[in-house]
Amino acid sequence: MLNMNDTIPEKLAEVKQRIAKSALDSRRQNDEVTLVAVSKTYGVPEIESALNAGQRVFGENRVQEAQGKFPDLKVAWPDLSLHLIGPLQTNKTKEAVALFDVIQTLDRPKLAHSLAREMQRADRRPDCFVQVNTGEEEQKAGIAPADLKDFLALARDELALPVVGLMCIPPVEENPALHFAFLSELARRSDLAQLSMGMSADYEQAVRLGATHVRVGSAIFGKRPVLATG
Ligand SMILES: *Cc1c(COP(=O)(O)O)cnc(C)c1O
Repeated sequence: MLNMNDTIPEKLAEVKQRIAKSALDSRRQNDEVTLVAVSKTYGVPEIESALNAGQRVFGENRVQEAQGKFPDLKVAWPDLSLHLIGPLQTNKTKEAVALFDVIQTLDRPKLAHSLAREMQRADRRPDCFVQVNTGEEEQKAGIAPADLKDFLALARDELALPVVGLMCIPPVEENPALHFAFLSELARRSDLAQLSMGMSADYEQAVRLGATHVRVGSAIFGKRPVLATG
């Protein structure tokens, strides 16, 4: 039987090559871009296949799913770095701070307060990205662009959270490049150096527009089962 995991190293290599080319095209250094391999819905064998091919940074969108897969992997691969890229409920803050190395979805004052308390209690400080709702979509998570300044005053200045950058998920029906350029401008104005933007369909564009982190799932691991959105 054909083992689908066999194709993961090849696809990973291709994504890395495309990132390198996009970086070069825009006169950036290849090592300015971190590939976050989004492993949500995939199992430990697929993740191990990527680890064996040299990948060390992974993204998961659900705390509980990540808790089922990553504790043992983190012991086996101490330099593995795990990013939370999905919404975080405040009743999961403790688990998230314990497991994740980066939280990309800081998106509201209540969560900022909860993370600040838990980081102090646990004495563990994962880097945070503020998620910005660049498309101002009603149903989507993220700080509205107009509220970003006040939110950073709370999260970064008052609560002293380790905020390192901004993250966005553009509306599906719009040209992502406009959102990437906008996020980049917001980060520049906010004096933040890191930008998490770009997924399988548009990561090359994101790199050309300044992404420091691209979140790529299906282009590495293959198509996800339909139930796995979010
Ligand atoms: C699932 C997901 C991705 C990866 O999506 P692909 O299209 O499979 O690359 C990136 N970012 C977030 C926030 C996601 O939930």
